[in-house]
Amino acid sequence: MSDATKSGPGRVGQVKEVTSLANPIIKDIKGLSQKKGREETGTFMAEGLKLVIDALELGWAITTLVYAKNAKDKPLVTKVAARTVAAGGLVLEVSEKVLSAITRRDNPQMVVGVFRTKWRALSDIRPAANETYIALDRVRDPGNLGTIIRTADAAGASGVILVGECTDPFSLETVRATMGSVFALPVTRATPEEFLTWKKAAGVSVVATHLAGAVDYRTVDYRKKPVVVLMGNEQQGLPDQLAKEADQLARIPQAGLADSLNLAVATAVMLFEARRHLLTLEPR
Ligand code: SAM
Repeated sequence: MSDATKSGPGRVGQVKEVTSLANPIIKDIKGLSQKKGREETGTFMAEGLKLVIDALELGWAITTLVYAKNAKDKPLVTKVAARTVAAGGLVLEVSEKVLSAITRRDNPQMVVGVFRTKWRALSDIRPAANETYIALDRVRDPGNLGTIIRTADAAGASGVILVGECTDPFSLETVRATMGSVFALPVTRATPEEFLTWKKAAGVSVVATHLAGAVDYRTVDYRKKPVVVLMGNEQQGLPDQLAKEADQLARIPQAGLADSLNLAVATAVMLFEARRHLLTLEPR
């Protein structure tokens, strides 16, 4: 146990009490709900004690910990506060009103962490056998992106590649929808051209999903090479530029009136099929 952990953050005198919404630090944290604020600072917010603990365990750098006054005596909060101080971060004890304003919620979580954003470079991705990546073309909806990151994590995928202009994986809404998986799964961004150049050298099989796909997704051989499952934009589907470079154009057969599946649902169907031979009920 470190000295900071032993003494507790309050006693080492590094906790600031804040009740005013006009406090400049609070204003900066509130700014993280906007993309501009996240880009300028290179940081983002994650809500909830469990998420903050998971992030710290996975080595994410915390810059600020904010917790509600009435959570200050919880041992895990004290421990996380001490870890934040030890990492050189700031700890703020605030009123529920301040937490509500930061998170834009009526019933906020008692703990919020501010972390440094982290992107994995495309050139660092060298897929190995049995690895699966998910590539998303211009995903727009934060809820879809968060759900996909969570699902990709649960399916044992190795990362998510955002192709073209996508919604921000570090927005409050996306991070919420990932339920913590944003900390577990590396996220990469690339232009369509960069993605296609990488694809040619990476030795992967790109299985693109398309409503006009001629291949039943259940007949694809997902074992031959590392697989990149490529999904199209919510409104427009996959552009020809990407579709024509895919190794397979797969379709999920549908019944009923709906033209297509929701993007996150289609991604889940694809990922669990692509990794069916690798997933078991054995304990992890
Ligand atoms: N109007 C769009 C179109 O024409 O493609 C619908 C896009 S759909 C909501 C979003 C993405 O989910 C598609 O680009 C595709 O990647 C995937 N998708 C949804 N339903 C699918 C299906 N039945 N088969 C294959 N892919 C599907």
